Amino acid sequence: MIPRVTATVDLGAIRHNLARVRELAPASRVMAAVKAEAYGHGAVPVARALVDAGADTLAVACMEEAQALLEAHVQAPIALLEGVISADEAALAAYEGLQVVVHDFWQIELLEAMPAASNIALWFKLDSGMHRLGFPLDAVPALQQVLRRHPAWRFQGWITHLARADETDSTATQDQIAAFDAALEAVPGPRSIANSAGLIAWPQARRDWVRPGLALYGASPLPGQTGADLGFRPALRLESRLLAVRSYPAGSPIGYGAHYICPQTMPIGVVAVGYADGVHRCLPNGTPVIIRGRRVPLAGRVSMDMISVDLRGVPEARVGDPVLIWGEGLPAEEIAHCAGTLAYELFCGLTNRVRFRYVGQR
Ligand SMILES: *Cc1c(COP(=O)(O)O)cnc(C)c1O
Repeated sequence: MIPRVTATVDLGAIRHNLARVRELAPASRVMAAVKAEAYGHGAVPVARALVDAGADTLAVACMEEAQALLEAHVQAPIALLEGVISADEAALAAYEGLQVVVHDFWQIELLEAMPAASNIALWFKLDSGMHRLGFPLDAVPALQQVLRRHPAWRFQGWITHLARADETDSTATQDQIAAFDAALEAVPGPRSIANSAGLIAWPQARRDWVRPGLALYGASPLPGQTGADLGFRPALRLESRLLAVRSYPAGSPIGYGAHYICPQTMPIGVVAVGYADGVHRCLPNGTPVIIRGRRVPLAGRVSMDMISVDLRGVPEARVGDPVLIWGEGLPAEEIAHCAGTLAYELFCGLTNRVRFRYVGQR
């Protein structure tokens, strides 16, 4: 049986992208972000490939995501980017040997209240200007006191997160880095600043650790540049098939709301993929897909299970032809741009109706 919609994830591309990160930041260790099901690519197979390729630590958002990796026996240190939210979670983190990114004093209290946390591994996250999570910069002396009180705690380092690293003409990133450095002047401990955009666009942000996510999946965090432009390889190919090919006379409305009107007698193809698979409903007429090596434009509203496309450019297209929705040759960044969003959200929007296939295992 041929699956209706297939996401083919090339683990070789994931390994290549990790190698590309190392090329950009050769002196840094890599904390690889596999949160949100490895950005929709599948947490366990991707984590295994990253560990196999030498990722130093894996990063997840929360305990549930860490547990999925533990249950699959993924052999690597795992960091909880949002830390722990309860005494139970703190106990579990200590028991499982997880690294906890601590961003507030109430989390320190959770750890201090717990004998099991006697040798907890932790990072401290500082707010250098993003104003989301993190201790204020003037808390550094108090945090050093905390570490002195708990010599058995295994301190991993100081983290901060960049708010505008994708804006290469903004001074915000330099300001954040300067503030972080000033707060930590003469303070010991490894530093980590850069996400993908940071490590690609801001060499001064490549410190002891870099924390790439998006780039590992081959997409670019920088507007106007694709992952391929930056030496990365898209790791996921989303494909479906032509389910129908019809010819309609000029003036025919196509799909819900007559969102497209045929300007001439023309072939329209119906592709078996829709917003219930992760193809955003807001994609406008003209958004490209690839059939028989050629780009053809979306014609009409995305519906739950189907899209319609203008086949004038590929009149030889037939029912059953593969249709590339995004992947190598049709960057997810470009489709995301058509949807008014980023590749991040496109990836995370893939649903469990999509059949995942993994290639490029070693
Ligand atoms: C998700 C995340 C990253 C990775 O970000 P990308 O932009 O995908 O590279 C790095 N650091 C933190 C704290 C994160 O939450």
